[in-house]
Order: sequence, then C-alpha cells, then structure tokens
Amino acid sequence: MAREDLFPTTVAGSLPKPAWLAEPEKLWASWRADGAERRAAQQDAALIWLKTQEDAGIDIVSEGEQFRIHFVHGFLEHIQGIDWEKKTKMGIRDNRYVVDVPTVTGPVTRKGPVHSEDVRFARAHTERKLKFTLPGPMTICDTIADDHYGRRADMAMAFAEILNQEARELEALGADVIQFDEPAFNVFMEDVQEWGVAALERAAEGLKCQTAVHICYGYGIEANNTWKETLGSQWRQYEQTFPALNASKIQQVSLECAGSKVPISLIGLLSDKQILVGAINVATNEIETPEQVAATLGEAMKYADAERLQCCTNCGLAPLSRPVAAAKLQALGQGAALLRSRA
Ligand code: ZN
Repeated sequence: MAREDLFPTTVAGSLPKPAWLAEPEKLWASWRADGAERRAAQQDAALIWLKTQEDAGIDIVSEGEQFRIHFVHGFLEHIQGIDWEKKTKMGIRDNRYVVDVPTVTGPVTRKGPVHSEDVRFARAHTERKLKFTLPGPMTICDTIADDHYGRRADMAMAFAEILNQEARELEALGADVIQFDEPAFNVFMEDVQEWGVAALERAAEGLKCQTAVHICYGYGIEANNTWKETLGSQWRQYEQTFPALNASKIQQVSLECAGSKVPISLIGLLSDKQILVGAINVATNEIETPEQVAATLGEAMKYADAERLQCCTNCGLAPLSRPVAAAKLQALGQGAALLRSRA
C-alpha cells in the first residue's frame, strides 16, 4: 500500500447543526424552519460540512446528518407500521435513559425512499468518497416499543429488511460506504451474538460498496458520561462481540478509543476487518493535537496492521459547537498526515 493511501480519515457520522438550522449544541434540537425553507437550510449546512471536512483533509466524508433530527428517528419517520401518537415510556440502552418512544403496531414497511435526496445532494457536491450512516436494526429496536412482533429478534429482522432496501438504493446513488450505527451492541452483548449480527448482515446483504458498523459508548452527553463512570477501569464490552463481528460479512468496524477505557488490545479480535480507530473524543471540548491522534493510532498498530486502520472520531460530533467540531476534524486530518509522513 502506498504511503499516501495509509490511514484514510473519516467521521463516525453526525456533525453539529449550524445555529440557523437548529438549536445548537443539543441532541434532538428543534428545527428553525419547516418545509422548503428547512430543506434549503439543510442543504446549505451539508455544503458547509462537506467543505469543512475537505479542508481538514478528511478522505471519506459525510453529509453530517444535517437532514435528520436524530440518527434513529430520522429514519423511522418514513416507516409505516409505527404509531407516533402511541408513546411508550421506555428505558433505552438498558435503562441508561428513559424516553417516550413511538410504538410499532403493525408490520413495518418503507413509505418510499428515506435518504435518497440527501445522498443525491451530497454526491453532487463532493469528489471525495462518501459515507452514509443508517441506524442498525438492534439499535432501532432499542429505541421503539413493540406492540406487534412480540420478539425483539423478529422485529429487528423486519427492520433489517427495509434497511437493506434503503441501503441498496443509497449505494446505487453513489454512497461508497454504508455504515450501520449500533451503539446497542455495547449494551446487549448476548443478543448481539444470538441475533444482532445476523440482523446486521441482513441489512447489508448484497451491498457491493464498503459496509461498516459503528459501535460506541454514545454521544458526549451527561447520561452517557454518567454511565461510563459505572463501567469500571477497563471497558471490555467489545471483547464479547468482536469475535462474532470478525466472522461476519461486515467489512469495517468503527470503535471508540480516544480518552476511553477500552483496552486497545481488543482490536486484535478483528483480524479480518478494517478498523476505524476513534481518535477524537466527543465528550470533551478540548481539541486533540495531531500528535495525540497519531499516538492513538500508534497504539492500535501494535495489534493490527497499518493497512487495515482508518482514523475516525469516537462517535458523532453533533452535540459539540461548530468551531470545536471543525477544530477536531482538523486535528484528525493533521494526525493522519503525521502518521503518513512517518510510515
Ligand atoms: Zn457513536
């Protein structure tokens, strides 16, 4: 592999919404406008982030999830079989937070393409490789109540089928990487082995583009930071799921490393995968130095060949301020450049 092709840089997915698009530094921020006005503002925001990523030297860029309110509900809004009026109080991610979630009351189907226009727009405005993120089937099932399927595994498979329809369309429109976000994989480790990986593979079935799964310890919000404090001195959740993922057909695994208590040696379990090493902490406003980014990758290189490593963020940057997120992207790009210069 040529030195300049080593350590491609990418983002886990979401980027902050500008203040004129939605309330800043907040998950679930309300939109500032509706209809055509909102759509135009979302496109402007996506353009800004494509340019910002390109300027920062990010190789595989995303539209920053500017077109959706949240990575799960942005997809579910376009699905039939869900009753949004029938709210159920649910402790999601194993009771890490309690939220009012909508309820599945019948078979789930797509009303039509969900993110096609978003991908078409992003594809038309960047020459770089394009990543598009979708929620994973297990994480969807952990963010919605079930009054129809009875078994979570069955509901996950039903969602996997419609995710697959969506993913195939997005691939045809030019997405180079389709990534499924599965933070729930770090919570229900037994279910991952029993049916989670199977549902994920169903969602990615037949795709010829690169396929990825992102598994993290969540956005840098208070509920997650408090949860992390209960996880002890070594976070070993990945240890239980990586063997099954390594045996799966998914090609890339995106994980959290920077500032976390994940023993980096666990990536040794992903010997057949490309590994997206999270080298940017999303729970702090402190900007990493390029040296710190390079050091995180340097640790990873003790357990995986450099050829299989990408430089990534720990998770989405959505709840951060725009300048902080932009500076973190710069650090990521500069860190990768440093690594290439030493390779
Ligand atoms: Zn994440």
